[in-house]
Amino acid sequence: PKRPPPTVKCYICGREYGTKSISTHEALCLKKWHNENNLLPKKLRKPEPKKTEVKTITAKGYYDLDAINETAWTNAQNPLVPCDNCGRTFLPDKLVIYQRSCKPKPAK
Ligand SMILES: [Zn+2]
Ligand SMILES: [Zn+2]
Repeated sequence: PKRPPPTVKCYICGREYGTKSISTHEALCLKKWHNENNLLPKKLRKPEPKKTEVKTITAKGYYDLDAINETAWTNAQNPLVPCDNCGRTFLPDKLVIYQRSCKPKPAK
């Protein structure tokens, strides 16, 4: 039976790509990430995802795919941001949309 080709998760978006196409994808994905991040209000912008290279190569010189994938997965977890008005937490991009309809209570 044929084994599926090994895949690596993109550390930016968390999607899986072949070991050959991952570097091309990551370059594009990072560009896209910056474009989207720049559209967010300043306080909601996220720090640039960082690729952890350290633990990804095993003693035998192979890529440790599990370590790469775990790192990618952790990075793909977006921090939730609380709404200024009601305190509910959202992903930054969802919060922007949500806050259009969540208006602050009128001051006393
Ligand atoms: Zn990606
Ligand atoms: Zn709210």
